[in-house]
Amino acid sequence: MARFHLARSLGTSSHEDDNLSDLDATPSSAGPSSAPALSVDHLSKRFGDRIAFDDVSFEVGQGEVFGFLGPNGAGKTTTVRTLGTLIAPTSGSARVAGIPLTPENSVEIRRRISIMPESPGLYLRLSVIENLECFADLYEVPDASDRIGHSLQAVNLADRAHDTCGALSKGLRQRVALARALLSDPQVLFLDEPTSGLDPVATRDVHELLVGLRQRGVTIFLTTHRLEEAERLCDRVAILSTTLRMIGRPDELREQLFARTLTVRTLVPLPEPGGVFADLPAVDGWRQDGPATYVLDVAEAAVAAPAVTRALVAAEADVLSISESHHSLEDVYLELIDEDREVGPR
Ligand code: ATP
Repeated sequence: MARFHLARSLGTSSHEDDNLSDLDATPSSAGPSSAPALSVDHLSKRFGDRIAFDDVSFEVGQGEVFGFLGPNGAGKTTTVRTLGTLIAPTSGSARVAGIPLTPENSVEIRRRISIMPESPGLYLRLSVIENLECFADLYEVPDASDRIGHSLQAVNLADRAHDTCGALSKGLRQRVALARALLSDPQVLFLDEPTSGLDPVATRDVHELLVGLRQRGVTIFLTTHRLEEAERLCDRVAILSTTLRMIGRPDELREQLFARTLTVRTLVPLPEPGGVFADLPAVDGWRQDGPATYVLDVAEAAVAAPAVTRALVAAEADVLSISESHHSLEDVYLELIDEDREVGPR
């Protein structure tokens, strides 16, 4: 693994400390296939007695943006490191970019993927373009100058190519790291908290870049603590807390986890709320939530809302609002993580 030695020796003075960076992407250009980009089957990783993640199964389709969420220590980075062939799983199996995850296939898999670690891991004394040239060399990227040009354009950094990386803001360095991850034209791009520590403007820039990558069909596996980021960018999300707790589209997760409710607010308290709500077939249950606020459990809000409105009008209630409750991905996440806290450590 001569290239990894090269990365380490170059890193003695100015290379940022980062244990993933010297093992990230290698060149790729595999043709498209119909197989899922990632297929993970009962995968587990232990370090001695410590379980990093356990019995994890999921698939990620080609071109999908897949969010991987979980609290600190949930096993997210270890999952990425395992799928990225940096460490071997303890049990279970996986296919990465269509290739079985085995030690013999590591090089093939690395040709098709790229990992952008949380820490950019750049040579700070070198310019942007020197960094990219260095990594292109390291990854043995064919047509390096073309790829460097494309990668710089993809992250809107062509005009900063000769700036020294050490003089760039954190947000710009993150963009250089993304350009580096794109050098190999990966089928699957693993991003480990790409906006961690960035201000809102730099975060928005990275989000826009990810939207652009998605439009180009790159499969993105996005590890993040930012729930609004996952909600905005991801087709589906998985919530990991050592085991996989939930997986699905953000709206599906909300539906699975929370009963649908209608919230009714009236100008003054209803004299007999039970008489209004209890006999409505579309309403499964109700409770008062404040002096003149009523929360109704319903199976289908679109069916219940008109019936509730008619009942309120018949009762001559002064209605201020009838609204369907909305839960964010953050609500889903906190609900699950709170459940885990109640259960205690695994
Ligand atoms: P964070 O969000 O804080 O980055 P994470 O979800 O990425 O957390 P991991 O870094 O994957 O979590 O860690 C999962 C568990 O595995 C933790 O308990 C961690 O201490 C343990 N772990 C990770 N790497 C090693 C290692 N090399 N040796 C021993 N234990 C490890």
